[in-house]
Amino acid sequence: MTYPRTSAFGPAAEVVPSPRFPEIERDVLAFWERDDTFRASIEQRDGADEWVFYDGPPFANGLPHYGHLLTGYAKDLFPRFQTMRGKKVDRVFGWDTHGLPAELEAMKQLGITEKSEIEDMGIAAFNAKAKDSVLEYTQQWEDYVTRQARWVDFERGYKTLDTGYMESVLWAFKTLWDKGLAYEGHRVLPYCWRDETPLSNHELRMDDDVYKMRQDPSVTVTFPLVGVKAETLGLTGVRALAWTTTPWTLPTNLALAVGPDIEYVVVPGGPAGAADVKAGDDSEGAAAHRYLLASDLLANYAKDLGYEGAAAAVEAVERTLRGEELRDVHYDRLFDYYADAETWGTGTAWRILVDDYVTTTDGTGIVHQAPAYGEDDHRVTSAAGIPLIMSLDDGGRFLPQVTDVAGELWMDANRPLIRLLRAEGRLLREASYEHSYPHCWRCRNPLIYKAVSSWFVRVTDIKDDLISANEQITWAPENVKHGQFGKWLEGARDWSISRNRFWGSPIPVWKSDDPEYPRVDAYGSLEELERDFGRLPRNEAGEVDLHRPYIDDLTRSNPDDPTGRSTMRRIEDVFDVWFDSGSMPYAQVHYTFENREWFDTHAPA
Ligand SMILES: [Zn+2]
Repeated sequence: MTYPRTSAFGPAAEVVPSPRFPEIERDVLAFWERDDTFRASIEQRDGADEWVFYDGPPFANGLPHYGHLLTGYAKDLFPRFQTMRGKKVDRVFGWDTHGLPAELEAMKQLGITEKSEIEDMGIAAFNAKAKDSVLEYTQQWEDYVTRQARWVDFERGYKTLDTGYMESVLWAFKTLWDKGLAYEGHRVLPYCWRDETPLSNHELRMDDDVYKMRQDPSVTVTFPLVGVKAETLGLTGVRALAWTTTPWTLPTNLALAVGPDIEYVVVPGGPAGAADVKAGDDSEGAAAHRYLLASDLLANYAKDLGYEGAAAAVEAVERTLRGEELRDVHYDRLFDYYADAETWGTGTAWRILVDDYVTTTDGTGIVHQAPAYGEDDHRVTSAAGIPLIMSLDDGGRFLPQVTDVAGELWMDANRPLIRLLRAEGRLLREASYEHSYPHCWRCRNPLIYKAVSSWFVRVTDIKDDLISANEQITWAPENVKHGQFGKWLEGARDWSISRNRFWGSPIPVWKSDDPEYPRVDAYGSLEELERDFGRLPRNEAGEVDLHRPYIDDLTRSNPDDPTGRSTMRRIEDVFDVWFDSGSMPYAQVHYTFENREWFDTHAPA
C-alpha cells in the first residue's frame, strides 16, 4: 500500500523499498570528487581557528586490515566534527617505510634467509629491493581509504624515507644527544649464535616452531657467605643456594639476588649428610655445614640436605631472615677468571642484591646473576654498579680467559663446568629440566639471551613530565588514562632506539676506530655532515641519500689522534622504526630546517 504523501524530495513512492547502500556510497564519493568537497572544506575555513591533526603513518608493505579501518574511522570522525564546528582542519597522509617488515619482504623476494647473504649481495642492492617493496601497495591503500569515505590529503603525503624527513630525524637525535638524553649501553636480547645476530621480540613470534621443548641440565650451586656483614649477622660460612638451568652462565656469576620480603631460613646439613659434601670430607665437618634458602622451598631440598623428609628439615631450621637483611652480604665466588678487580672492574661484585623480581615459584628463592645473559640480571646488577662481563664470543664460544672451557660452544660447556663444580664441592643437586625454549626461526638452533650494545633514549629522566602530561589528556575510554597507558608510563624504561639492520634512518654517530684515541661525534644535519666530511652522502644516481651504505662511506681522520692513523667511522646501527614514525609531527614538515614558524605554532596537536 502507498500513502498519498509528497515531500520536497519528490513523491514518497519513489523511495526504493530495498536500497543498495554500496551504490549510494559510490554516488556520494563520486559527488565529493567532482565537487572537491574535502579541499573546499579546508579552504573555506582559511583564517578560522585551526584544529591540528597529525596522522601517524601506517606501514605500507601490505594491504590494510580491519584494525586500520577502525582507527581510520576515528581519524576521520574527529576532524569532520571539528570542521563542522567551524575550525580549519588540515590533514595529510603519511607512509611508514623503514624497518624489519620491509627487510623481511625484500629477503623473501630475493630468496635469501641470512643476514650474511645481505652483506654478500651488498647493502645498496638489498635496500633498493626493500624500498620497492614498501611502495608497492600505496595505490591500493589510497583506494581503500577513499572508499571508506575518509577525507585525507594523499597528494601532499609524507614518507619516512624522504631525505628531508630523515634529516629531521637526525636533528631530533642530535638534540637528545646534546641534552644528554641519548647514550650507548647494553640490552639483553634473544640471540642466535649461529647467525651471530640478536633477534627482535617480533622474531620470537615468527612461527609456532620457535618455542620447542628442550632438555637442559639444572644445577643447584652453593655460595658460602663471607666478609664483615656475614660475620656481623653470624652467617659466616653459611651456604646460600642458587638454582639455574644455564650452568654455562656460572663463570660470569657476579651477584646473587633475593626478594626483599621473602622469608629465608638457615638450616644445618641433615643426619644423612648433604649432597654437596666433597668426597673424603669427614662426616662431622659435613654435618656442620649450614645452608640458606627460601623458607617456602626448603621442603624441595630436604633430601639433598640430608633429611629424611620435609618435616625433619623444617624442624631443624635454626633461624629465619627477611631478604632485605641479606643485602650486601658477600660470598665466595665460584671461579677466579674475573678475580682481578683492576682488569675487570669486579671490586663491587660477588654480593647479595635485593630485588622484587625474585620469587619462590621454583629454585631456591636466591637467583644467580650473570649480567650479560639475563634481562633482569642486567637491570639488577647495573643498578648496583656491577660490571657487565661477556664470557662468549659472537659465535657463542667461550673466550680465552675462561680457561677451563675456552673455545667450547656454550651448550657444550655445561658438562665440564658441572664436573668442576662437583669436584670443588659446590654442587648440591644436578637434574635434567624440560622446558619450552625459544629457537631461531631461521636456523632452528636454540637461542641464548645475551647483552648486545645498543643506543638508548633516557626516558627515565623525563618520566615525571610524561606522567604529568598524561593528566592533561582526555582519554576515551577514561580508564585507559590511569590503566593501560598510565601503568605503561609509570613502568617506562629507557628506550632502545638502535637496530643492527640495513633499511632505516641511520643513527648519526661516528666513533674513532682506535680505542686508544677515543672520540664520538653526533650529527644533526646535512650541513654538519658536509662541513666535517667535505661532501654529502650520494647514491649511484648522484642524489643526496642518507641511507646505508652511502652514509657509511663518510669517514674522516680522527682529530683527537696526533698519529693521524685512526679514522672516524659511523656505527652501523639504524633507528628503530618507532623513532622514525614517532618523529612525524616535525619531520613531515622538515622542521627545524623549514616551516619553523608553522611547527612552533602547530605543536602539540
Ligand atoms: Zn639462527
